[in-house]
Amino acid sequence: MIPGARLIILGRQGAGKGTQCVRLSRHLVVPHISTGDMLRAATREGTELGLMAKEIMDAGGLVGDDIMIGLVDERLGRPDATTRGYILDGFPRTVAQADALDGITSERPIHVVIDLDVPREIVLERISARRVCRDCGTNYTASGQESQTWICDVCGGDVQQRDDDTPDAVNRRLDLYESQTSPLIEHYAAQGRLMVVNGVGRPDHVFKRLTDVVESRR
Ligand code: AMP
Repeated sequence: MIPGARLIILGRQGAGKGTQCVRLSRHLVVPHISTGDMLRAATREGTELGLMAKEIMDAGGLVGDDIMIGLVDERLGRPDATTRGYILDGFPRTVAQADALDGITSERPIHVVIDLDVPREIVLERISARRVCRDCGTNYTASGQESQTWICDVCGGDVQQRDDDTPDAVNRRLDLYESQTSPLIEHYAAQGRLMVVNGVGRPDHVFKRLTDVVESRR
């Protein structure tokens, strides 16, 4: 595998990005750095950042650029990321974050930016079925047949719908994606750094498309 792969995975929330990133991180043996997971961990720990972020996340908004840039700068400076690389999931989400990331990674630039492309209508269907383990973050898809209590196969934690997966919050997030994040696709394409991967289809097929793109950029 690529030694020291540094990847950004863009895409609408609910596009199956998190699950694919976890699998890709195991495949490439690089850390999966999800800014959403970092914020949810801070919320669970009850830190000032976590409490502030929870309000914003539950409303489907975006946490301020300065805070996010500071978090990512610190995380990418840790030894696992500097030696192995990383898969960056959920960051950048604005052009200001992308510009800051260029500065943060100037000595070790990103190898490839992948847009995992899933249309908005399909994302809406997937999010309404999405369930997440509160403790370890493993994603599940509800069939509608489940009883109230659902225990995580991985860690035994409680599997529930995310607090920010309400219809209002989901629509707000998708609107913010179109206005704030989708310009990044053009931004990276203009720099010749973007690869688009079709994110519709069986997860195994999508994963194969992702690994093919990563291999092609070695
Ligand atoms: P995610 O797990 O990527 O779906 O992120 C969950 C929520 O965390 C988002 O809806 C935002 O409120 C917040 N968040 C995560 N990453 C960022 C970011 N790069 N910039 C701003 N807010 C973020």
